[in-house]
Amino acid sequence: MAKERGKGGAGGLAAELYAQIARIPCINSHSHLVSEAERLAEPLDALSFFNHAYPLADLVAAGMSREALDRAFDPAMPLADRWQIFAPYWRYTRLTGYSQCILEGFADLLGFGELSAATIEPLSEAIRAHRRPGLYREVLSRRAGIEVSVVNMEDLVEVDREFFLPLPRLNRFSMLRSADQIRHIERDYGAAIGGLRDHVGLIDRVCGQWRTAGVAGIKLSQSYHRRMDFRRREFAAAEAVFAGLLKGEYPGLDTPAGAVLEDYLVFECCRAATEAGLAIQFHQGIRAGNHGGMEGCSPVPLIELLQHFRDARFDLSHAGYPYLREGAVLGKTFANVYLNMSWIHIISPQGARQDLQEWLRMVPFNKIIAFGDDLRHVEAVYGHLKMARWNFAVALAGMIEEGLLAEADALEVAQAAFYDNPARLYGVYRA
Ligand SMILES: [Zn+2]
Repeated sequence: MAKERGKGGAGGLAAELYAQIARIPCINSHSHLVSEAERLAEPLDALSFFNHAYPLADLVAAGMSREALDRAFDPAMPLADRWQIFAPYWRYTRLTGYSQCILEGFADLLGFGELSAATIEPLSEAIRAHRRPGLYREVLSRRAGIEVSVVNMEDLVEVDREFFLPLPRLNRFSMLRSADQIRHIERDYGAAIGGLRDHVGLIDRVCGQWRTAGVAGIKLSQSYHRRMDFRRREFAAAEAVFAGLLKGEYPGLDTPAGAVLEDYLVFECCRAATEAGLAIQFHQGIRAGNHGGMEGCSPVPLIELLQHFRDARFDLSHAGYPYLREGAVLGKTFANVYLNMSWIHIISPQGARQDLQEWLRMVPFNKIIAFGDDLRHVEAVYGHLKMARWNFAVALAGMIEEGLLAEADALEVAQAAFYDNPARLYGVYRA
């Protein structure tokens, strides 16, 4: 990336655009950052950054065994020995977006341009040295220019509002696996649930409370276990399954009866969130990890739900990757659908550029959300955002050179996608 930016021609224009885009504050639409206090308590070294779902998945795909991973990430072992185990797989994974965003962070924030046998020790030393209070203000606010990060969580927990906006999930209310789950919800929310009406009433109450608490929206992650083909179900049919669940007579979530109940509850979650004025973020695209199914990736099966809730704000996080053209048709034809590029810039940096170019001549650009880190460490978040800005700069520069776009249009697009659109979607209006 650094080399690309040094080139003349398109590289020159892209570099100019990059410099301007980097000045636009970013609303980070999807994050798993932990609090600064939690981060400072972690004894990280350079290799620990790869002990994260995304780079781990690349290492596994490259053939690294569970046993080798355990040893490479065992802090009790000498770092030099761990590097020996890691290096043969790093050779093949170092070019992927998941690796590159970490390297970008290491290069800019810590001054190490490569990860190698020679740098692993001094780099780890530098990571330890910058582990001090103020890290988040320095990296997220000052260096990255992130105004706020929408952070995923299960139930609502308070976050440091200087950096974060909470995005709690309604997963536990909508993906029911046992009667125990209902007992835990009753305990955690001080509610009595005797039937489906009580359960739906609680979903309404929770959405109202979350709205009052100033959340960015609600999250649903059904695509990790099924196709997104939610159908409108009759109350009586869903109620019968729910009553069975409470009696311990429930065949399970991934059964026809489980689907009846889940479909009904997803509709009710979307209704309750919309009535509370909250955006609905669906995980919509590839699954994290290895050897996963892809049946939940496509956003097309969502159509019945999208047609039903015309007034909702549906935020398709990951935009259906790799089914981006399907997502694009939804963004083009449904006023209630937003295409969120979170994670895409590192799943496939090249894919992100192509999609952006296609979308801009297909989808109204007030529907495009430029960035969401989907990561855990500020160094990788910084690197990911740098890659996203660079992807925008390259894609937009290419369109300018083709005569499809004026430079002023390009900056208007970037301002909308990195800031204005997510601000409107999540109700972020800061003084
Ligand atoms: Zn995520």
